Amino acid sequence: MIIAKKKPIEEIIASLTGDKSVFIVGCGECATVTETGGEKEVAEMKAALEAAGKKVVGVDMVAAGCQELDLKRILRAHKEAAEETDAFLVLSCGAGTQAVREGTDKHVVPGTDSLFLGNIKRSGNYEEKCSLCGKCVLDDYGAICPVTRCAKGLLNGPCGGTNHGKCEVDPDKDCAWVLIYDQLKKEGRTDKLTRVHPPKDWNVVARPGRVAPVREELAKETAGAANSTAGAVKEVAGNKKP
Ligand code: SF4
Ligand code: SF4
Repeated sequence: MIIAKKKPIEEIIASLTGDKSVFIVGCGECATVTETGGEKEVAEMKAALEAAGKKVVGVDMVAAGCQELDLKRILRAHKEAAEETDAFLVLSCGAGTQAVREGTDKHVVPGTDSLFLGNIKRSGNYEEKCSLCGKCVLDDYGAICPVTRCAKGLLNGPCGGTNHGKCEVDPDKDCAWVLIYDQLKKEGRTDKLTRVHPPKDWNVVARPGRVAPVREELAKETAGAANSTAGAVKEVAGNKKP
């Protein structure tokens, strides 16, 4: 789940300076759960923009803000409003805002600040446990991620500032290394802690990430092979060009 927070209305109004009309796009997935871009927040935003003198020419919800095909369907369904509007305000994560960018040349404005990939503890209570490093090492750490949950991302033990099990950087948070040690002890696997880990190889997460199908027959055609493998699709990692 992408965790985001609402931008202040003053910031949104400032971004919409010069735009008389606005089309609001909400998201039926993460932004609905986090109450930053669901139907209720879209309705509230419509009222706030109208109170600020903007004309709201349309609103709609995408199943998920990051689904570019669904966004294009919505823009086609609202063709007249999409042509009339000066700007789109997107109550979704940054990926959703950029999905709208793919479907229009109009002014596109984000209505939220995207924060992190979060686990849902309960409504309104989210925790970052994975920062998508591209090479998961959880097995060495009792399935508790030091890359994300240690404030310093330490891979070879605690920093020495641990205070009664809490992190010296933020005493409201558990020290990840206390959690890791306690878990490995429960499993009888503290021997894992004797291994020295090399620095993390961040090259495996070359940005922007991409996973795309590659038709094998293209490679075979290039090589002059006679029989292409029609329809064969191969998944490749994000740092390889399709
Ligand atoms: S090591 Fe941590 S940041 Fe990397 S993939 Fe695993 S959980 Fe995510
Ligand atoms: S106190 Fe623990 S979690 Fe905080 S930075 Fe040090 S080792 Fe990491």
